[in-house]
Amino acid sequence: MNRTRPGWAQWLAWAVATAVVSLLLFHFRDVLDKAHFALIYLLLVLGGSVASGHRVGLALAATSFLLFDWFFVPPYNTLTVANPLDWLVLVAFLVVSVVAAQMLHRLQVEADVARARAAEIDRLAPLESLRETHRLQNALLASVSHDLRTPLTTIKAVAHDLVRVDDRALVIEEEADRLNRMVGDLLDLSRVQSGTTIASVAMTPIDDLVGAALQRVTGAMPERTVQVHLEEGGTLLVGRFDLTSSLRILVNLLENANKYSPPASPIGLSAVRRDQWIVLTVSDAGAGVPTAERERIFEPFYRPPGAPPDRGSAGLGLAIARGLAEAQGGTLRYVPRAGGGSEFVLLLPAAELPVRILTL
Ligand code: ADP
Repeated sequence: MNRTRPGWAQWLAWAVATAVVSLLLFHFRDVLDKAHFALIYLLLVLGGSVASGHRVGLALAATSFLLFDWFFVPPYNTLTVANPLDWLVLVAFLVVSVVAAQMLHRLQVEADVARARAAEIDRLAPLESLRETHRLQNALLASVSHDLRTPLTTIKAVAHDLVRVDDRALVIEEEADRLNRMVGDLLDLSRVQSGTTIASVAMTPIDDLVGAALQRVTGAMPERTVQVHLEEGGTLLVGRFDLTSSLRILVNLLENANKYSPPASPIGLSAVRRDQWIVLTVSDAGAGVPTAERERIFEPFYRPPGAPPDRGSAGLGLAIARGLAEAQGGTLRYVPRAGGGSEFVLLLPAAELPVRILTL
């Protein structure tokens, strides 16, 4: 509520009100006493202060003082005062109306502040309880995933032994592996969300990261062409990041590109330096992601509406990948690929190589 800046309509309304009150008082000038004029003008000042703020109140106080003196204190139609006692009435009127206008203003400001504070408290309360719920969810997630790991390892070990007797045990082993991966993802997600990802950030050549990522994925996608492009120009690309976490991100992006694009189309993997960033891009020529889902795919457990149930994925990969990127001071975002398909752009902090190393 803006009490300090009344609009022109309010000024006009109070000017009209002052004129009407003065005309009425003028009409009854001979029957009324000075105390009556003073009280009625005071009511006008208070009304103006309450409804339109202290600026209007103070302006009304000054105008009323002048009108009072001019029309209702003898000699009339002049600002001179014949009876010195009338000065007392006039000055008392001015002081009371100014003080009252200011006091009302202060009360209203305090009321506004109290209201704003109450609204702020109302707004923060659900946020605080949301944060607490989040914390509890993460703690629960961490403990459940941890407790699931042990029985899963036993199941896998027993199934492995049983394969010699019954080859259906192979299915049990595979399923145990799959569950184990999912539990691992849940654990990672809870770590990322609670900010406890241990990242040993160090100066690392991008060649190492890209090489390790390709080594991880190419076995599982023998038919696929991966076109790698590393920025040329003689300088070694070096970043300041955690190799394990970044590897996890890149592998996840490459596996997704493989999963969501036609087998015959190549996957692109490029790394360039842009200002203080190393920009790593994984691109594919698949269907891409619809505009409405480009942020949602980074939410945990998000799978697009109508997606066929995929036993291998729980919609955690990108949420973990973005969390890991941010934990290292980087970012991960989606951009549509020119010509169709997706581009996932990972920014990692670049490292400045000491000149000594560069010239070796
Ligand atoms: P999921 O395990 O389901 O793949 P992700 O978190 O890795 O989980 O991905 C979430 C969703 O984002 C996927 O279900 C898919 O719809 C979409 N997505 C991820 N990568 C791509 C891609 N390269 N092309 C198109 N859609 C993708």
